[in-house]
Amino acid sequence: MKPETIAIHAGNQKDDITGAVIQPIVLSTTFERKEDGSYHEGYIYSRSANPNRTSLEKVLTQLENGADAAAFSSGNAAGMAVFQSLQPGTHIIAPDDMYHGLRNQLKNLFAGILEFDFIAIDNTDVLNAHIKPNTGLIWLETPSNPLLKITDIKKVVAIARQQNIKVVCDNTFATPICQQPLALGVDIVMHSTTKYFGGHSDLMGGALIAAEKNDWWQKIRQVQELGGAIPSPMDCYYLVRSIKTLPYRVRGHVQNAQLLAAFLQVQPSVEQVLYPGLPSHPNHAVAKEQMLSFGGVLSFCLKGGKEEANRVINKLQLFTRATSLGGVESLIEHRAMVEGPDTKTPFNLLRVSVGLEHIDDLIADIKQALA
Ligand SMILES: *Cc1c(COP(=O)(O)O)cnc(C)c1O
Repeated sequence: MKPETIAIHAGNQKDDITGAVIQPIVLSTTFERKEDGSYHEGYIYSRSANPNRTSLEKVLTQLENGADAAAFSSGNAAGMAVFQSLQPGTHIIAPDDMYHGLRNQLKNLFAGILEFDFIAIDNTDVLNAHIKPNTGLIWLETPSNPLLKITDIKKVVAIARQQNIKVVCDNTFATPICQQPLALGVDIVMHSTTKYFGGHSDLMGGALIAAEKNDWWQKIRQVQELGGAIPSPMDCYYLVRSIKTLPYRVRGHVQNAQLLAAFLQVQPSVEQVLYPGLPSHPNHAVAKEQMLSFGGVLSFCLKGGKEEANRVINKLQLFTRATSLGGVESLIEHRAMVEGPDTKTPFNLLRVSVGLEHIDDLIADIKQALA
């Protein structure tokens, strides 16, 4: 089936008892045993499994074309489950512009437990030079945040396979609608479902989707169940509901982002636009090869530096000054400020999560702010 159909049907189970067309929310934390000691549908206790979470995991699995999925209470919890599943002493290679929350998680919570290097992962020579005998995981994030760098997934997978190294790809910016990393050989896809899956800036969640139900995946399932960073039945319900429109929303985000990028690129006050869908992007060819479409986030740098970036951001009416992405409303942020003092992000850079407002209104707003 195609993503539009999967998105609507895979996460829904009609209710046999009432005939309800939409799956009810099961809030019960515990489930009754039958007289013979067995359970009605295998549900025992909601931390282990819950019908709404099962449905969410089903639709996530099918959208990414995987073997199984595990839902978490945030994207960071999903990332943490991966790190906690590794043997102590394992070496991880991650991008130097890895999502700052996960980079800080490794640096602050896993120092002394795991080893890690943050490198220019889009350069295969640099990657090869950092592989060690204890390297067990390569973490990818493409397109990256906030520089929209593109890493050639197939190339990295080929290097990893030769040395028996696992590959995880943070697919948050792309969504399965724009990019299918499992089809390119990645072992596990990670998402912050807080972003496009939720799509309305009103819930937090994370997910891992596995290509194979192997021993490593069983360990990750254990971290989910025993660690307990699970989403509530309400959050699972709202996510399943939002996912029904994901393919259409993403299509709209991508269309608006492409048009906004093209507009910004020819503005005299704009130094540079970073968007993988622009032919001027240094890795546009790779993006075209491995992505189905180019996503809804772009960054641009202003000629006037930090002051000009602040002036423009404060003059915008339709773009809300806030972090995060993937909601129906357009957001803009001064990324260096969010990432803190050790950021490598240029101070004249603004990151935009292009929303689903009409493109004419978005362009008119940017026009008046740049003027
Ligand atoms: C937001 C985000 C995360 C973290 O997800 P949370 O839901 O905020 O915990 C990880 N990676 C990327 C690329 C993100 O944008």
